[in-house]
Amino acid sequence: MSATRRELFGPGPTNVPASILSALAAPTIGHLDPEFLELMDLVSQRLRYAYQTDNPLTFVLSAPGSIGMETSLVNLLEPGDTIIICINGVFGGRMKEIASRVGATVITVENEWGTPVDPDQLEQTLKAHPEASVVAFVHAETSTGVRSDAKTIAALAREHGCLAVADCVTSLSGVELKVDEWGIDVAYSGSQKCLSCVPGLSPITFSAAAVERIRRRTHPVQSWFCDISLLMSYYETGEKTRAYHHTAPVNSLFAMAEALRLVEEETLEKRWDRHLQAAAHLYQRLESAGLEPLVAAEHRLPPLTLVKIPPDADDAGTRGALLNQRNIELGGGLGKFAGKAWRIGLMGENATPERADYLVDALLEVMKAG
Ligand SMILES: *Cc1c(COP(=O)(O)O)cnc(C)c1O
Repeated sequence: MSATRRELFGPGPTNVPASILSALAAPTIGHLDPEFLELMDLVSQRLRYAYQTDNPLTFVLSAPGSIGMETSLVNLLEPGDTIIICINGVFGGRMKEIASRVGATVITVENEWGTPVDPDQLEQTLKAHPEASVVAFVHAETSTGVRSDAKTIAALAREHGCLAVADCVTSLSGVELKVDEWGIDVAYSGSQKCLSCVPGLSPITFSAAAVERIRRRTHPVQSWFCDISLLMSYYETGEKTRAYHHTAPVNSLFAMAEALRLVEEETLEKRWDRHLQAAAHLYQRLESAGLEPLVAAEHRLPPLTLVKIPPDADDAGTRGALLNQRNIELGGGLGKFAGKAWRIGLMGENATPERADYLVDALLEVMKAG
């Protein structure tokens, strides 16, 4: 089966540049082939740039973004540990579910959907729970289109002796992110959002303090597949004697190497700015058409915009017509915002004013024809 070309303006995946698709089609090699081991080193090196980190333990997990969330929490937490989880949308809620299943005590800092994590509330909670050892939050909430202040949150966590875990699935290479400078201990992401790569991979990085915490565990990680200690020796010792753990998705990693090369070539600063400019253009187009962004201007997440569905518009009908008549995917609302807002992604390859125009023109035509 060969799929129709769609223009992907939802919450991910986004359109994949031709050079990444070509990389994917290179001949498959073995996952223990010396050439593949070299490629893994190259990917780690490029990933360190994308995350702005020197962490040796920086690599790509063989599954989508969700495994980054699962891996960070199951490795840092043991039964009986206390974690503070900031929840301002769907993804914070998932972190809570994972941490509870580990047997950790979960304390939540909850903020309204459509607003960022409140650092003052987090600080109060940290003071009230000196036993907490981890703070987890979502840098870029894709369910609400909100960016939280990762730098301030990570600094507060550190001040109170906690490791900071950041969900950077929709922020990596799309908005400013500086893992080392901000003191983030574990950051994970997904391939299909601002990296514009194929879905199915989760780039992750662990600080020295996070590695130390994992070394000191007294219980084995209950998930064998996600147990980072089984992979650590390869990355930590520099000995290139990678033993068989699982069969890496070789071709997807070819694609990831190319996606990260494109980030390096463009530079992060220009890429962040490109996402910002594209979003600014989108807001302007939406507002001049009488469509209202849902999030206050200062908290908006450039790669992903929520726009209120006008009362007279047909949510499913509009999205269906865009897909069936125009081959355009627009995101529906998630959770509390289902039926109330559309989610417009301008990520990676699609983060340009021209692509914003393409989407808005089609949306307005379809709504008018309604
Ligand atoms: C998309 C997303 C995830 C999950 O990623 P998958 O690749 O779908 O598993 C997690 N967190 C956030 C913030 C996301 O946007």
